[in-house]
Amino acid sequence: MSQRYDIVIIGSGIGGLTCGYILAKHGYKVLIVEKNTRIGGCLQSFYRGGVLFDTGMHYVGSIEQGQTMYKFWNYLDVLPDIKLQKLDEEAYDVFRFKDREFHYAMGYDNFVEELSRQFPAERRAIESYIEKIKQISSESPLYSLTEIDGYKMIETDYVKTSVNEYMESLTDDKMLQSVLTGNLPLYAGVKNKTPLYVHSLINSSYIQNSYRVVGGGDSVTHSLANSIRKMGGEIIRNAEVVKINCNSEKATSVELKNGEVIEAKSFISSAHPSHTMSLLETSMIRKAYRDRVTSLENTISNFTVYINFKENSVKYMNRNFYYYDNDDVWQSWDCGAENWPKSYLYMHQVPQGGGEFAVGGLIIAYMKYEDVEQWSDTKVEKRGEEYKEFKRQKAEKLLEMLERDFPGIRANIKSYSTSTPLTYRDYTYTKEGSLYGVLRDKNFPLQTLVSQRTKVPNLFLTGQNINAHGVLGVTISAIITCAEYLGVNNIIREINNK
Ligand SMILES: Cc1cc2nc3c(=O)[nH]c(=O)nc-3n(C[C@H](O)[C@H](O)[C@H](O)COP(=O)(O)OP(=O)(O)OC[C@H]3O[C@@H](n4cnc5c(N)ncnc54)[C@H](O)[C@@H]3O)c2cc1C
Repeated sequence: MSQRYDIVIIGSGIGGLTCGYILAKHGYKVLIVEKNTRIGGCLQSFYRGGVLFDTGMHYVGSIEQGQTMYKFWNYLDVLPDIKLQKLDEEAYDVFRFKDREFHYAMGYDNFVEELSRQFPAERRAIESYIEKIKQISSESPLYSLTEIDGYKMIETDYVKTSVNEYMESLTDDKMLQSVLTGNLPLYAGVKNKTPLYVHSLINSSYIQNSYRVVGGGDSVTHSLANSIRKMGGEIIRNAEVVKINCNSEKATSVELKNGEVIEAKSFISSAHPSHTMSLLETSMIRKAYRDRVTSLENTISNFTVYINFKENSVKYMNRNFYYYDNDDVWQSWDCGAENWPKSYLYMHQVPQGGGEFAVGGLIIAYMKYEDVEQWSDTKVEKRGEEYKEFKRQKAEKLLEMLERDFPGIRANIKSYSTSTPLTYRDYTYTKEGSLYGVLRDKNFPLQTLVSQRTKVPNLFLTGQNINAHGVLGVTISAIITCAEYLGVNNIIREINNK
């Protein structure tokens, strides 16, 4: 067993790959080990009936020159390898509450103007909202890319205030409160728990500008993977880590399902922290820490219908459509199986060859793990007929709702496939198929923030459970983790100077 690697990274999602890129660029010999056949984790794209579908990246924000995501992907050399499609500037997100419709316009000023037109008495509140989310972004050093002494959770109002508390203090207009929280599924927020900063960092990014990546998440992950390989890094697929071996002082190697043992000087896990804990048997990890990490509440999961449209039948929709069955967005996730779903999100894949017609679309709805728990012991493709029937009924329900909201669309659907919380659980090992991993809770800000450090001195964590989820949040998590090797300000300087 020779120590060929400086760092072994578990998982090839955007978190693992971004760490791999940054560390390989600094001369570390990195190896990324991925359990799946395809790299990308939640960012993988897949083909159904000749149409490319995205799993976990449908739009990105702040991606124009000088903005945060642009700076990150410029630094990571991703931009030359991807093609971006700007969503409709006048209405990139549309929200329908039963029979009333509202929308967001792109750009802070346009956002204020357009929403003030929809809520004429509320201009001041809308302006204050924009000021607030801009302030929160600028005060978050890794979002504004300003040098700092160390990245730590700051106990501020926007960590200790929930999204709904803030909205209630902003305006008495309940409809405006709901519209400003309309893209709640982007962070699967929970009333009286989700801190304001989670909402603000996401919304301020998307309001600046919102784009789809033509060719999907694959084009991003392949760009990173190619760069890593060019810099001497390695990526192995179909390589599930089943154990992280430790001596009395540190981690020494990872053991793969096929029995292979790979030594390294240090290790980074981008897997869900509770899964990472299951790989570790060492007294360095105290029971209290293990219990805390394992019992953290996670965001809800989802059920998705991937639709193949008949050729030249459905016009490409260059915006995202959110539906709520009542005026209170916070009720949207908490429903029993009998009145499921209370909301859904509908989007189209950008047609890769251009043109005015969509080839594929998705309907995403929250789904609790308990709805599929009876099949929890089954494996992909072997979950049985009852499960297939469950999926068919859920898909039909969503398609009925889509037909109600987009009359005539049903006749233009050639075929569809579905995914459930079990799909995500088994594909990424995210606990209970959770959409975005650990749920941040303003009542327990520090307890629900998972540190990049573990009690094993050369084992670090990264990914959506550290810092934040989403392409932007996970890129920042990767910087937080790589800062353990390189120093945070060195990375910030490099990003700003590129
Ligand atoms: C339905 C959905 C829609 C989304 N839409 C958007 C969006 O529009 N915009 C946006 O910015 N974000 C979006 N997100 C969020 C975003 O996709 C995720 O936050 C992000 O991709 C998570 O990356 P990660 O690297 O932290 O984790 P993951 O992508 O889960 O990567 C972890 C990797 O580790 C691997 N792994 C786990 N255990 C092991 C093991 N033992 N051995 C080897 N490998 C292992 C997994 O297979 C996986 O590849 C969406 C997510 C979902 C689910």
